[in-house]
Amino acid sequence: NRVWRLRKRPVGELTNDVLSFEEEPIPTINDGQLLVRLNYLSLDPTNRIWMSDMDQYMPPVELNAPMRGLICGTVTESKHEGFAAGDIVSGLGVWADYQIGDPAMLNKLGDTGPLPVVDAFGTFALVGPTAYFGLLDIGKPQEGETVVVSGAAGAVGSIVGQIAKIKGCRAVGIAGSEEKCTWITKDLGFDAAINYKTEDVAEALKKNCPNGIDVYFDNVGGNILDACLKQMNLRGRIPTCGLISGYNETEPVPGPYNYAMMLMQRLRIEGFIVTDFAPRFPEAAAELGKWMAEGKIKVRQDVYDGLENALEHLKKLFTGENKGKLIIRVEDT
Ligand code: NDP
Repeated sequence: NRVWRLRKRPVGELTNDVLSFEEEPIPTINDGQLLVRLNYLSLDPTNRIWMSDMDQYMPPVELNAPMRGLICGTVTESKHEGFAAGDIVSGLGVWADYQIGDPAMLNKLGDTGPLPVVDAFGTFALVGPTAYFGLLDIGKPQEGETVVVSGAAGAVGSIVGQIAKIKGCRAVGIAGSEEKCTWITKDLGFDAAINYKTEDVAEALKKNCPNGIDVYFDNVGGNILDACLKQMNLRGRIPTCGLISGYNETEPVPGPYNYAMMLMQRLRIEGFIVTDFAPRFPEAAAELGKWMAEGKIKVRQDVYDGLENALEHLKKLFTGENKGKLIIRVEDT
């Protein structure tokens, strides 16, 4: 049984000595527990948060404990009446081939219809609901408004822009390469894209948002948040979904410098964690599933083989090398 354990809290960019990858016995389960074999491991920016001991929305991973992750696995043994061997489950688990499943943290995946399990897991377990509730419940876009999203070609951001289009908004995405900008405008139907690595974001926003910004869905924080603040319309909304530009920082991140806009334009900025909406996940899955079936939402999974490669691939989230939802495939269901 191969297990990744947290050995050091990361400082700055992720390094190989932060985790260890070791061979260990398969755990044995007690009453009320499940033994779960890992099929797919979701790699997420929040893995970096959990490794650190910064103030966060749940306890950090303890040093020397198995690394926490969002998993999809198969129950191989059950001592809980709600689950049986063979059930496919998803939820919070650890980076290990075999693990003790906590029934309170896992849900049965159920019938995924025509969608392969890996795609259903990749879209509906985390990033789809994040885009759906973050945009619709926190951002509250109205028809005809302008929605700007950063991390726009990423797993969450690409869905945010497509929902904005479905709701009759102008969707403008900010992403880190020409290929990503072309993908979101040509394939996903965004109205415009800004490459923050080669363009002056503030100038490009002025050009691409002639009526200002009503909703800025923030995946990154930092300078991009500042540039968007400057263009916000009266009573604009800013759902704070993620601050990935700061996750590897070793010093407190200064700014936002345009904070006065909060007052002048009577803005509302609101952070959220998708699990706040857990009881409503079936609603998000139903709506997103319908839009996907109608061809109105396209998703891209970025799947790599081998649990042993998890840490190497996790780094891609911070360099922008991932192309869609990053997933490690250990064994197909
Ligand atoms: P993505 O698929 O968007 O991957 C991360 C992307 O972030 C990279 O591809 C890269 O794209 C971009 N990025 C990395 N570093 C920077 C930087 N310094 N400045 C600007 N962009 C950067 O990941 P997810 O869709 O899974 O997550 C997106 C955000 O949503 C994260 O901040 C994450 O923490 C947050 N999140 C929040 C949840 C919640 O409940 N609140 C739930 C899930 C995710 P590029 O090439 O464009 O730079």
